[in-house]
Amino acid sequence: MYNALLGEARKRLSLVRQSLWYTKAKKSTDKKERQAHFSAARHAHGFSVYALEAVADEMRRTTWLGDHLDSHVVQKLAKRAFEAVQKVAWGQAKTVRFKGQRGLHSLEGKTNAACIRWRTDRVVWKGLELPMIKGAEKDPVIQHGLSSRIKYVRLIRRNIRGKTRYAAQLVCEGVPSIKVNEQGEPMHPIGKETVGLDIGPSTIAIVGDTKATLMQFADEVVRDHKTIRRLQRKQDRQRRANNPDCYDETGRAIKGKPPIKKSRHQQKTDVQLQELYRREAAHRNTLHGQLANQVIAMGVQVKTEKLSYKALQKRYGRSISVRAPKLFLSILTRKAERAGGKVEEFSTYRTALSQVCLCGQKHKKKLSERVHVCDCGVVMQRDLFSAYLAKHVENERLQVTDAHEHWPGAEPLLRTAWQQAYNQPASGRPGPSSFGTFRSQSRSSEKESLPEHETRDGVAMAQATVRACESAKV
Ligand SMILES: [Zn+2]
Repeated sequence: MYNALLGEARKRLSLVRQSLWYTKAKKSTDKKERQAHFSAARHAHGFSVYALEAVADEMRRTTWLGDHLDSHVVQKLAKRAFEAVQKVAWGQAKTVRFKGQRGLHSLEGKTNAACIRWRTDRVVWKGLELPMIKGAEKDPVIQHGLSSRIKYVRLIRRNIRGKTRYAAQLVCEGVPSIKVNEQGEPMHPIGKETVGLDIGPSTIAIVGDTKATLMQFADEVVRDHKTIRRLQRKQDRQRRANNPDCYDETGRAIKGKPPIKKSRHQQKTDVQLQELYRREAAHRNTLHGQLANQVIAMGVQVKTEKLSYKALQKRYGRSISVRAPKLFLSILTRKAERAGGKVEEFSTYRTALSQVCLCGQKHKKKLSERVHVCDCGVVMQRDLFSAYLAKHVENERLQVTDAHEHWPGAEPLLRTAWQQAYNQPASGRPGPSSFGTFRSQSRSSEKESLPEHETRDGVAMAQATVRACESAKV
């Protein structure tokens, strides 16, 4: 059904693109006229969600598929197919994918009143009855969910340890439950400060009023990713061995000859890999959630530069998909909004936080320059400094006077964070080069008395100097 709808939607899109209105719209320079032409083209060839839903209903009534599916499920499928084709129409995707033998991984209804629905303790759908696992109702999270209105039910299929598992997701109305400890207090406190963030490809700097942190992003996941890489190479070797005709003499894949043959051993590798992917995603989710809770504990008004996922991917490739900074941001946004705050993203182009200084000067930096050094005496790790600046952005403009005023109070805080990140990373290994070599003091504070933490930590300072010498030699 999905494939049929997808094919129909694709056909309609191509008709739209061949139409006279479309050609006229392309030539037109007037915005309103253009839109009117486009809309006429779409209307003439029935390229809309509603038109496709009508096709789906018709298909359900007239073919054997109707015996197995009902109107709501079919309409949702139509919507899904349409949205896939619409992405192609808008240039957000190159092509659509038809579903293979395994079919869809999820199906959902539209309301809880008909079709796939939840009735007190079970999912009911066309003679299918799936009762809730015994004892699940004792879970406070599930209790909270069941006490709210259920909007619709989604059935999903997952592969867990090589076995197929089905589950029902109830999409509920209202706010998520809040975890509490034994004393009945919320487990994750909500802070009141304004927090500035700088999210890099591998590091994150968090700066609040009373706390600052510099750390690596989802570090554990990256470490465990080695196993996946090794298996991927194994899978590739196996694929080549099983399909020698699909590659030319230099080892490149031949176009139009997809490697389909799979040995028993390769099938085993595939299952292993699938399981590892799933676990990696789950682990990453947990770590991102923990980090988001850390930020929320400082404050729920979060400010950060807009991340360009594509730009990051171009520059850093695969490591981005493993650390998934954008996913972190969406988790953080969700959690902050739930706590009554928000995540404000402003454009990098207008603020250029990695270039400006408190004195108003602009320095273009290379990516490899990890430390912000200015004539005015400011010396600070680059990510921490831009997180500090992000904290002082209002309406897409950096409030320089504001940032300048608070700098003397914030500097020791940021310096401690830098030192901690550089000397004692959580994993016990030396800090990565992206943290920059720690510099114990800025030039402006040389004249003044040393902050307390620096006089105390003589050993760390000596260490830092040694490292600085080493890097100078290199
Ligand atoms: Zn400066």
